[in-house]
Amino acid sequence: MITGKTRLFGIIGHPIGHVRVPMTFNERFARDAIDAVSLPFDAVPERFADAVRGLRAFENLGGFIVTAPHKQAMAALCDELVGEARLVGAVNTVRRDADGRLIGELFDGQGFVRGLLAHGHALAGKRVFVNGAGGAGNAVAFALARAGVAAITVHNRTASRAADLVQRLARAYPRCAVAVGPKDARGFEIAANATSVGLKDDELSFDVSELAPTTLVAEVIMKPEKTALILAAEARGCPAQQGRHMLDHQMDLMFDFMRIGH
Ligand code: NAP
Repeated sequence: MITGKTRLFGIIGHPIGHVRVPMTFNERFARDAIDAVSLPFDAVPERFADAVRGLRAFENLGGFIVTAPHKQAMAALCDELVGEARLVGAVNTVRRDADGRLIGELFDGQGFVRGLLAHGHALAGKRVFVNGAGGAGNAVAFALARAGVAAITVHNRTASRAADLVQRLARAYPRCAVAVGPKDARGFEIAANATSVGLKDDELSFDVSELAPTTLVAEVIMKPEKTALILAAEARGCPAQQGRHMLDHQMDLMFDFMRIGH
């Protein structure tokens, strides 16, 4: 039951109808008897800064999750960025401290990496292809480099974004061999879709028809649960990792960061 003492948590994005965070958080609050509630906040980009200013003013707000299209804008509105948010310049989790300061972190990449490791996929020393250099592409690439992969080749429809990501990766992780490449996942041990291609049923982020059946194909898209890419990879006999694991494996990190249940 929501009482006068219930702590507030949210997820802010636009649109917001598709998000899973309120369900997953509220289930967990109920399971662990935590007096908190997670709410969806729909804010258009033009009013996003106003919405954040309002949220900041609530003494009983513990924090909020940030989703598209606000992750980069949120980085500029935080009082402090920590961890991956600092490196990538995007935020998906905000903690509101008692003094009203907003602290931002980005757990997308760690969720992706943790999901793969939890399913028994080793990362150290691997050669990885990443399609996408937007928010998810940045998060995934930085986290893979941190996890010790040997090489990352990034492709992006807009080539300049791939070049920019590769430049920042090379600076942060000089031991990882990074490069911009064509949309060709052949010859890599892991191939990841980090674009929004696949939200529609028939879209394929990259061709899997000539991949070795040992290539791990990983996805960031959560809906549909099995994208055309995952279905094609499975049909080819490749191991495949769905996008939902990336969020599932961020939950503990988000809870700890927002000091939920502490
Ligand atoms: P974003 O910053 O807007 O980037 C979108 C990316 O997709 C860019 O690389 C963009 O290329 C590419 N793209 C879009 N349409 C394309 C097309 N028709 N052909 C080729 N490339 C295309 O968005 P984002 O934050 O990275 O999110 C991307 C996806 O990741 C979303 O579906 C989101 O739901 C998902 N995601 C999942 C999780 C999770 O926990 N599972 C976490 C974060 C994000 P350009 O640069 O050329 O535009």
